[in-house]
Amino acid sequence: MSMISNHLPTAELQALDAAHHMHPFTCNSELSQKGARVITRAKGVTLTDSDGHEILDAMAGLWCVNVGYGRDELADVAARQMRELPYYNTFFQTTHVPAIALAQKIAELAPGDLNNVFFAGSGSEANDTNIRMVRHYWAMKNKPSKSIIISRHNAYHGSSVGSGSLGGMSGMHAQGGMPIPDIHHINQPDWWADGGELSPKEFGLQRAQELEKAILDLGEDRVAAFIAEPVQGAGGVIVAPDSYWPEIQRICDKYEILLIADEVICGFGRTGQWFGSETLGIRPDIMTIAKGLSSGYAPIGGSIVSDEVASIISKGEFNHGYTYSGHPVAAAVALENLRILEDENIITHVKDVVAPYLAEKWQALVGHPLVGEAKIVGLMGSIALTPNKETRAPFEAEVGTVGYICRERCFANNLVMRHVGDRMIIAPPLVISTDEIDTLIARARTSLDECHEILK
Ligand code: PLP
Repeated sequence: MSMISNHLPTAELQALDAAHHMHPFTCNSELSQKGARVITRAKGVTLTDSDGHEILDAMAGLWCVNVGYGRDELADVAARQMRELPYYNTFFQTTHVPAIALAQKIAELAPGDLNNVFFAGSGSEANDTNIRMVRHYWAMKNKPSKSIIISRHNAYHGSSVGSGSLGGMSGMHAQGGMPIPDIHHINQPDWWADGGELSPKEFGLQRAQELEKAILDLGEDRVAAFIAEPVQGAGGVIVAPDSYWPEIQRICDKYEILLIADEVICGFGRTGQWFGSETLGIRPDIMTIAKGLSSGYAPIGGSIVSDEVASIISKGEFNHGYTYSGHPVAAAVALENLRILEDENIITHVKDVVAPYLAEKWQALVGHPLVGEAKIVGLMGSIALTPNKETRAPFEAEVGTVGYICRERCFANNLVMRHVGDRMIIAPPLVISTDEIDTLIARARTSLDECHEILK
C-alpha cells in the first residue's frame, strides 16, 4: 500500500510528483526544478497548501467550484450513492434514478425548449457529442452536406481531438494534428486587442458579421452549426461588445444554423443567472455543460438539447455514448449541487450582492498604472495589462511574460489569479462574501504593485 500522504514534506511530494506524474498544460521538465504547488485541503473559497499557506482561490479551481469547497452534503450523497448503486450504464435501454432525476432537473432549469440531456463525463466529451450530434441531425434531415461547424479563434471547447479542434487555441493546434476536417474558425470579438480605431459597437458588429461571411463563403448548404462560449473563458475572459450577440443570433436564425452555447464555464450561476445565454440574450439549440453542474465534486458534463434537435436524433439509434454517461454517483452529486445552488439562493447572491460589489472594485483597477481595461460579467472578470493605456499597446517582452510575473506575485500573496497572455483573470466560487472580495482585491492590488516595481 502506498505510504504517500499529506504528512510527507513538500519537497518529497514534489520530487515524487515530478518523477511520475505527467501534468496537463504544464511543461513537465520544469517541475523537477520548480516543484508543483501541493494543495492539501480546502474550505469555502480558501485552499491550504502543504506548507500551510491559506490561499484565496479566485479561480474556483478551474472555474468549477461554484458552491465552494468543503460541502459535506456532497460528500454524503456520493457515499450514499456508492453504497446503493456505484455504477450502472445508461446504454441499451437501461437507466437509473440519479440519471432520471438529474436530466429532469436540468430540463426544468434550462431555458426555452432545451428539455433533453445527453450525459458525458466532461465538457470535452460533451462537445465531442455535439460535433457528432449536429452532423447526425442534418444527415437525418436529408442534408448530410451540412457538416461544417464554425467556431472562433482563441475559443476553448476542451482538449480531446474533437473539442480541441472546435476550440481555436493556436498552441493546441500546433500539436497532434488538429483541427480535424470541417471545422472553420472566425475571429473573436476582443475589442481591446483587435478593435483598432473602431468603437466597441462597430467592432462587435463587424466580428459578428464574419459569421455571415463565412456561411456565404463556405456555402449555406455546408454549415451545420456555430459554437461559442457566451463569455470566452480560457481565452482570457473576453466579453463581446453589446452589439455582438444579437447579430450572431440574427445570422444563425436567418441561415438556419444550429447555435451551440458552450456553457461549461458560464452555466450554473457564474454570470448571475442559471445560464450565460440568459444573461447575454442568446437562444441556443444546444448547450454544453460541465464544471458548475457538480461544482467540480464529481466529473460530469453533458449536452442540453432542444426538443426539435432531440426529436430528430431520437428517430433512430444515435451510435454514441460514454461508459460514464449519466454515472450514478456523479449524477447524484450534481443533483445535490443544484439543490444547494437553489435552496441557498446562491445565484441571487451573485446577481444582487457580490457581482455588483466585485464589479465596482474590479473596474476601479483601471486606475492602476498597469491596467488598461477591466471587464466583468457576474463573477468572471479580466484585466488587460499594458504599458500604454491610450494605444492599448502590448509589452515589448514576449506575450505572457508580464502576465506570468503578475501571476507569480499573486501566488506569493496567497491569491490564485490566472494569466492568459497578459490578461489576468478571475472566477471565484459563487459563495464568496463581500469581505472575501475585499481580500481578493487587496491582494490583487499588492500583486499588481509588485509587478509594476519589477518592470521598472
Ligand atoms: N468548454 C469550455 C468553455 C471550457 O472552459 C472547458 C474547460 O475549461 C471545456 C469546454 C472542457 O471541459 P473539460 O475540461 O471538462 O473537458
